[in-house]
Amino acid sequence: MHLIHFFKPLCRLGLDFIELLYPRLCVGCNHLLSPTEKEICLVCLSHLETCDFEKFPQNNPLYYRLAGKIPLLGACSCFVFTKKSLLQRIIHQAKYHNNPYIMQTLGMFFAQRLLQSNFLANVSEIVPIPLHPKKLKKRGYNQAEYIAKGIAQVTHLPINTYFLYRTKNTETQTRKNKIERWNNVKDAFECKGTPPNLPLLIDDVITSGATTQAAAFEMYKHGCKQIKIASLAFVS
Ligand SMILES: [Zn+2]
Repeated sequence: MHLIHFFKPLCRLGLDFIELLYPRLCVGCNHLLSPTEKEICLVCLSHLETCDFEKFPQNNPLYYRLAGKIPLLGACSCFVFTKKSLLQRIIHQAKYHNNPYIMQTLGMFFAQRLLQSNFLANVSEIVPIPLHPKKLKKRGYNQAEYIAKGIAQVTHLPINTYFLYRTKNTETQTRKNKIERWNNVKDAFECKGTPPNLPLLIDDVITSGATTQAAAFEMYKHGCKQIKIASLAFVS
């Protein structure tokens, strides 16, 4: 008992001392984070350009980009991705400064918005788009998986990383037309085991949507009768 009383203030001092040496700064504006803020300050979060696609799951630009080949029950994004934006800077930090927790924080923000709509109705599992093992080794982590972790933390939905696999390490999609993009990724995924009842497929930034479509198409072929898709950001 006495020992706890002795160590508690010491631990507290220790933590403050560490923060003094390595202050926690916002990845968007470099200002000090408050104890309740994680990676991104509330001011920066409020300045990110959001879209309200989750309120219109079958009537928004992302849905129209992805629908057709797959039994899409709904699609939505949290942010609009534009070049030189605050969001681009933040995602760049996550990617090149090896900080997956930025994506997790953004995932938590996304989940809070999703919970204010009906978008998650009947979703049984969250399935992050997998990276090819080679790319995963090079990058160190899968951005989509950390977005999924953030969403799961808020919604308490389970994450499924054992159904969908990336079997082909595709080349970059930029400078390819629509048909070339589809051909490049159409056999990039494989599924194993029991299909989830209603998966929510998670991606980080959707540009053409070909990769996301290919993953969803594979899930459909493997028994998923309905699929929902959510991407953190959407390139308009
Ligand atoms: Zn900030």
